[in-house]
Amino acid sequence: MAEVRLEHVRKVYPQGGHVAIADASFTVADGERLVLVGPSGCGKSTLLRMIAGLESITSGTLRIGERVVNDVAPKDRDIAMVFQSYALYPHMTVAENLSFALQLRKLPVAEITTRVGQAAEMLGLDSMLERKPAQLSGGQRQRVALGRALVRQPQVFLLDEPLSNLDAKLRAGMRAEIARIHARTGTTMIYVTHDQVEAMTLGQRIVVMKDGVVQQIDTPMTLYRNPANLFVATFLGSPAMNTVEGLLALDDGPVLVLADGQRVRLDGARLPSGLPRKVVAGIRPEHLAVAADGQAMLSATVDTVEPVGNEVFVNLRMGAVLLVARLPPEEAPVEGRALGLTLRAPEVLFFDPASGERLPG
Ligand code: ADP
Repeated sequence: MAEVRLEHVRKVYPQGGHVAIADASFTVADGERLVLVGPSGCGKSTLLRMIAGLESITSGTLRIGERVVNDVAPKDRDIAMVFQSYALYPHMTVAENLSFALQLRKLPVAEITTRVGQAAEMLGLDSMLERKPAQLSGGQRQRVALGRALVRQPQVFLLDEPLSNLDAKLRAGMRAEIARIHARTGTTMIYVTHDQVEAMTLGQRIVVMKDGVVQQIDTPMTLYRNPANLFVATFLGSPAMNTVEGLLALDDGPVLVLADGQRVRLDGARLPSGLPRKVVAGIRPEHLAVAADGQAMLSATVDTVEPVGNEVFVNLRMGAVLLVARLPPEEAPVEGRALGLTLRAPEVLFFDPASGERLPG
């Protein structure tokens, strides 16, 4: 096991001079499960592939343990990588797929048998060791791909969107399994995904990336509650955080004055300095609620109601502003109706409209 340390790591692809990673510096602790997340093209695969040694590093330093590995070949980095495409050997059985890398390394037969047995047991593959990949479901094939990484007992596991080919139910099951494997092996794990739910559920810490730039690194709940900027705020959470532009001013109490003159009361909000000022207010859908008579802090028209079982997502219009509220199903309003709402003002976040940076409150 080992920590992975990046110092000012930069990647410029020679073809076209595209800056895929601008300047990444962070440390993955020994035994940590870290997730790299961001939209397609943000550079997360490039970063993972540099750690794996599959992509050269333009500048900066990469260490695995004490060793600088910038110029160390992938096979000498003591890492194991799992990809979205399982890349199993189709003519080999599950057992052969699992043991192949160990045979290449000329490990003693008894050691290979033990490691394959342990991995098969951990992944529930015991009963299918003699099958070929074509005789397995997608989920089972991905298990074998994980097993092949596991038997190598590397210092670091690198996983690049390993669950993308699986259906939603299987993905949730495999997520839990990967967390369990991590807990059992204690091996440092770096996991790439574009899926914020996967990032939130799997990451002990998450690195949020955009356009080759690390936006914020922290635990899932800290990122959710204390996002550094609008990008992080709106990327994590589903439905996404509502963002409302307006002039934040002090009247009788704090109010957000919208472009059309509507006013949203924000009694109890944690206000930034320098009021009045233009802001983007960030309101999580779960912080809106149907107001009792006379208590409304804002009023809106119900556009559509989406039931999802244990709650409903209510799409609202407040003039030109669209909002989503998460409400209990029994409070689902009628479409087209005017609705008074309260919001949990102390939870509202404020951002600078120009830079998108969070304004301390
Ligand atoms: P992600 O994994 O977040 O989707 P990638 O790391 O694959 O993003 O890509 C980051 C950026 O680098 C993208 O704009 C992509 O087009 C570019 N890129 C990726 N691979 C290459 C390459 N081999 N040559 C040139 N540009 C590349």
